Amino acid sequence: MTPHPQSCDVAIIGGGPAGSAAGTRLSRAGLRVTILEKEKFPRFCVGESLLPHGNDLLKEIGVWDKLEQAGFLRKYGAEFSTPDGERQNRLWFGENLAPQHEYTYQVERAPFDQLLLDHARENGCTVHEETRVTALHDAPGAPITLHAEGPSGRTELTARWVVDASGRCAFAGSRAGLRRRGTQKVRRVAIYAHFEGATRHEGKAEGHITIIRTAGGWFWLIPLAGNRMSVGLVLPHGEVKGEGDYNDLFAAAVAAAPAVAQRLDSARRLTPLRATGDYSWKFSSFATRRVLLTGDAAGFVDPIFSSGVMLALQSGLRAADLLVKADRCGRSLRLWERWAYTRSVTGWMNRYARLIRSFYDRAGFEVFMSPQPVLQLPRSVARLVGGQTDPGLADRLRLRLFDTVCRLQRRLNIAPPIPSLR
Ligand SMILES: Cc1cc2nc3c(=O)[nH]c(=O)nc-3n(C[C@H](O)[C@H](O)[C@H](O)COP(=O)(O)OP(=O)(O)OC[C@H]3O[C@@H](n4cnc5c(N)ncnc54)[C@H](O)[C@@H]3O)c2cc1C
Repeated sequence: MTPHPQSCDVAIIGGGPAGSAAGTRLSRAGLRVTILEKEKFPRFCVGESLLPHGNDLLKEIGVWDKLEQAGFLRKYGAEFSTPDGERQNRLWFGENLAPQHEYTYQVERAPFDQLLLDHARENGCTVHEETRVTALHDAPGAPITLHAEGPSGRTELTARWVVDASGRCAFAGSRAGLRRRGTQKVRRVAIYAHFEGATRHEGKAEGHITIIRTAGGWFWLIPLAGNRMSVGLVLPHGEVKGEGDYNDLFAAAVAAAPAVAQRLDSARRLTPLRATGDYSWKFSSFATRRVLLTGDAAGFVDPIFSSGVMLALQSGLRAADLLVKADRCGRSLRLWERWAYTRSVTGWMNRYARLIRSFYDRAGFEVFMSPQPVLQLPRSVARLVGGQTDPGLADRLRLRLFDTVCRLQRRLNIAPPIPSLR
């Protein structure tokens, strides 16, 4: 980027899935879009397991065929397990979702995000990598001004609209005067690395994500293409004393969970252990008159059901559509439009929030792990696990009923108890 001021119709902060999806859509609608990304891609990012309903969004922006050719590992379902491996619940998308949702992919995020950003570029977006946005000025009657620092120094960019897709950095929300609040009582930390040589399942189950619930948290095992496996441990923030603690904590948690230890028995760690605070929060509103928050920059949902990338794509596209409509009428966003956008994105997040609460609640997890085919409850849960964020009435009612059964389990032991979690 030159040090001289530049202008565009829409400036997007961040070139992750939300930013690339929004940029592609906006550029295809004829708007001049500039994406400012602070890193040089490909860059590491956590969050490697996709959901099949996200396939539709990738098709909408025309990148699905490229993904199919990119050599990622197909994911046909998900499995949940107790730490001793005694109880397992294995889901197959093909048994619960429409045929086009039979599978999706497990992706290393560095090449996946690069693919999406390159696609945005090919669709007309101007992309500046290694360019960090440092300030945002949104004064009435003037274009929005962004200050950024890039390879050629400091610069300014003016735009009619800003889409914040800066992930959990959440650059614009508080600067635009929006309030941020936590949505889970317990703050958690994730400690994770890539391994080589971990035991994988046979056949189509090779690409299943495995989630292992422990007494205080959970593990993920995400098989990736080649012989790689992403392994992460999520535990309450209070259990982590400091950075030097990660290795010991991780090793002790693996040793205490035979279902994980067995799969890592002959595995070699390829990357250092990284840690990320993953507590959940969201802004009070996801839009001002000219700034829209998308993906993690709007709010962060606990990653247990791998919903993050799909919600990022979905909110990026919804924000882009809203913006195109207002831009064509030559006006800023109306109050009801901002409210409707916030409401629909919050609605998607809340569907997961309820299921996440059940997962962390021991009694709820016991019900989740005993999927009796009563009233098709497990199918409705599986459809949400597959990423169906706008369920029909029947599924919504069944999900409510599932919540109620989880609550009753605390007193009635409807589902068999899981002694290793008691
Ligand atoms: C422990 C953990 C496990 C997860 N597991 C999964 C999973 O299995 N599946 C899943 O779908 N999701 C998962 N997620 C969530 C997923 O990572 C995110 O939801 C997803 O990456 C959000 O996409 P995004 O585009 O909103 O943000 P990001 O992917 O974070 O992209 C934001 C981009 O903005 C850039 N940026 C930030 N600030 C600035 C700035 N000031 N100027 C310019 N650029 C900036 C960043 O460099 C980054 O490239 C997980 C998250 C965590 C923490």
